[in-house]
Amino acid sequence: PVRVRFAPSPTGSLHLGGLRTALYNYLFAKKHKGKFILRIEDTDAKRLVPGALQKIMSTLHAAGIHPDEETLDSIRQTAVLEGRIPVYDKRCRKLTPSQIEKNIKENKNYTIRLKCPSDTNKFTDHVYGTITMGMAQQDDAILLKSDGSPTYHLAHPVDDHLMEISHVFRGEEWLSSTPKHLAIFKALGWNPPKYVHLPLIFGHDKKKLSKRTGTADFDSYIKKGYLPESIINFLAFLGWAPKNSKTELNSIDQLADMFVLSDINKSNPILYSEKLDWFNNQYIVKSLSTDEQIENQAKLMSEYIKTHLNLQSEPVIESVISALKLCKNELFFYNDIAKVANYFFVHPDYDYSQLSSTFKDILPSKKESIALAIKSNVMKYESFTPDLSSEVMDKSVTWTKIAKTVSKDLGISLGVVNRLMRYIITGKMTGPSLNPLMAAIGITDVLKRIDIFIN
Ligand code: GLU
Repeated sequence: PVRVRFAPSPTGSLHLGGLRTALYNYLFAKKHKGKFILRIEDTDAKRLVPGALQKIMSTLHAAGIHPDEETLDSIRQTAVLEGRIPVYDKRCRKLTPSQIEKNIKENKNYTIRLKCPSDTNKFTDHVYGTITMGMAQQDDAILLKSDGSPTYHLAHPVDDHLMEISHVFRGEEWLSSTPKHLAIFKALGWNPPKYVHLPLIFGHDKKKLSKRTGTADFDSYIKKGYLPESIINFLAFLGWAPKNSKTELNSIDQLADMFVLSDINKSNPILYSEKLDWFNNQYIVKSLSTDEQIENQAKLMSEYIKTHLNLQSEPVIESVISALKLCKNELFFYNDIAKVANYFFVHPDYDYSQLSSTFKDILPSKKESIALAIKSNVMKYESFTPDLSSEVMDKSVTWTKIAKTVSKDLGISLGVVNRLMRYIITGKMTGPSLNPLMAAIGITDVLKRIDIFIN
């Protein structure tokens, strides 16, 4: 049976590399209906950070990675075996037993090492293939430190054996220590697990991501406004490309279904944050698919919009709903709403220099006459409708109908009329479709904006 474990040291919050290791473990366990175990590795007492354990657990939870079992104390497990350790009690190979005894009597500090055999330097890794390590990796592994506590090198074989772990997914940085670990498995007469070493994630600078750079930490991505689903989907494909994926957006369960070890890539994946932004945009759009979802999100956003745009009071909920509905495709983060869709809440500032350079095809003097023509046509109605099937209905009109009239009357292209109207309404050159936009802004405000623009 597949039993895998994620074994972080509780030395801080989880960075993206660690989270990806956890994710691959989890996907593999789910795929094979096995167990995913969280094991906190506290072999490095000096580096323990208070609260780190809680943080790791809450990060995994937020990411949708739920352990089937959790073990918090590897030292305790290792202690079971300490009685057997003296078999290897040679401080180094040259010392005779009597020298060692003398040293111990003199209360000298010592560590306990394994006299490593020289035939564990060749092994198979499920990502890197057949590996042959040089003699440098054959040094005698320290098993117990001078304070008597076990090293990671000992804790890994002991814990993974006792926990019946089938596959060890861990960072590439452990590849070179694997001969030592195999030597310990061998010395204890145990079968080693299968090794799956994961290439380190590189940043744009082609250097390894580190906690110290401050950008690689899961929590900081969440604080910036990335959704856990986006991060997980993005991370999954950072070093793994499924052969049979139909779409790039996949839930964690779909990812697990597709997960195959042989599709993990040997080369170091590079973290392109543009790709993460793309995922975030996709998940934001997805999270705003129903009216109910949009309304709930709108309620969460109104205070932020007020503060960010310095409004006197919170915007009316309908405006926030319209803004989310019409501008969701432009959002990389929810908070982008205040800048992308600011014109739903405040009148735009017009930048006339930008306007002249973008509207080179209309004479500057014509802008005003076009705006006036729009105004007089709009004034014939009471409201805008986004409904294209009925261009004019009672006192309601589509923008398309007005634009066509103005274009014909003044002999200018429809494109110019549309662009100018968009600019008057939004102060921007791009944005949502004009028919629903004009309907959302409302006829009174549309007229007001035309006046401000003209004056
Ligand atoms: N505590 C080790 C780490 O955080 C675990 C390596 C392993 O998975 O065996 O890198």
